[in-house]
Amino acid sequence: MKQSIWHRIYSRICILEVFCGMILTGLVLQNHNRIFGLNEKSKEVIAQASDDTDYGYRRYENRIALTFDDGPAAETTEELLEGLKERGVHATFFFIGESAQKHPEIVQKAQQEGHLIGNHTYSHVQLENCSIEAARREIVQTNEVMEQITGVIPKYIRPPYGDYSNQLLSEVNMIPVLWSIDPKDWERTDVSNMVREIVSDAKDGDIILFHDIYKTSVVAALEVVDILQDRGYVFVTVDELLLD
Ligand SMILES: [Zn+2]
Repeated sequence: MKQSIWHRIYSRICILEVFCGMILTGLVLQNHNRIFGLNEKSKEVIAQASDDTDYGYRRYENRIALTFDDGPAAETTEELLEGLKERGVHATFFFIGESAQKHPEIVQKAQQEGHLIGNHTYSHVQLENCSIEAARREIVQTNEVMEQITGVIPKYIRPPYGDYSNQLLSEVNMIPVLWSIDPKDWERTDVSNMVREIVSDAKDGDIILFHDIYKTSVVAALEVVDILQDRGYVFVTVDELLLD
């Protein structure tokens, strides 16, 4: 009789333990997704870049990377650079080779002000739609243009439309960088909604995609910086996010 009471108490403790375990597992998973809420492809990119699948929490803590594609453009990129400088923010610019040749002074300024310069192909092509030779030329030619202007060969590429093959990029020794927040700024003019959506989604380790060829994108990006800096976020270039 006594043994059966102890047996019942023991069974209840076991049930309680299983229940607590389930709650704890749920919390851990939820936290994991909050910290590493990057899309699958970005995780893959981070893994490739760091050659390390052990994602440490501290690596991403309070850090967000702003990335700008499709520039440089007169006025909008220059205005953006001024705004970032005033706020002490470093970003990553994935410039198009032929635009960089038209505005080398903007590329130079971006580099001198501490921003990271990446490759966005020479004429904004979808790499997987090109022949291997043409795709390789789009990338290598852009690296040559950037090296002539800045003295540095870019290591990172944002493949237009996020379309690339690992084989091609490893051949040209480039690291692909995708994104985890895409506000679709290129088709929108509702700056305040866009800003609200971005800051409500933003979390540690995010890579935000903008295009510095639109006035509205520049205004939105700077507003996002102001709000997230107030929340304690630090803006870093993608190499600091991926490799530190
Ligand atoms: Zn683009």
